[in-house]
Amino acid sequence: MQEYREFLAKTLIDETALQNRIRELAEEINHDYAGQDLMLICILRGGVVFMVDLMRHIRVPHVMDCMAISSYGVGARASNGNVRVTYDLQNNIAGRNVLIVEDIVDSGHTISHVLEMLSTRNPKSLKVCVLLDKKERREVPVPVAYCGFEIPNAYVFGYGLDIDEYYRNLPFIGIVDLEKYKGNTE
Ligand code: 5GP
Repeated sequence: MQEYREFLAKTLIDETALQNRIRELAEEINHDYAGQDLMLICILRGGVVFMVDLMRHIRVPHVMDCMAISSYGVGARASNGNVRVTYDLQNNIAGRNVLIVEDIVDSGHTISHVLEMLSTRNPKSLKVCVLLDKKERREVPVPVAYCGFEIPNAYVFGYGLDIDEYYRNLPFIGIVDLEKYKGNTE
């Protein structure tokens, strides 16, 4: 895999800004769900790093579960609206306060599909928490209750978000210079 510094156009959100904002989001969640019980649902794989850091600041009693969605065709960098659940929840969500934790909302197709599906399972409440929102790219409206950052229309990576499955481990969010990125040749 190519060294990321060769295609990093710029750092969009650094580690300090990410961690500060995540602490603020957790405080909003602590406030809104005070005295209640919560179920966090991580959307794999992009939401993992965000979810783990977020939940360490959540003081409301909570359980977690995961769900995997495939929405992009192989090699594509834009959602085609063709959303599929590839790994479903292991828990029953009926009667529970459910908070979906996702890395990024782009067209909105993925979250919209997840919301539609989970709402049929009768949760007590169902909300969305996203780290990044590319608002100008929205094709379907989605209610976002908690949003870390609104970002411009660019392909970003790091902090859970991949470039061909690599670099999810980076502690910051960077913009990919697609002209300099050679693709994964592994
Ligand atoms: P949507 O269905 O809203 O168009 O797309 C949401 C999904 O697309 C996200 O969960 C994420 O996996 C992927 N995605 C959208 N924009 C980006 C991006 O800039 N970088 C990366 N790595 N993934 C993205």
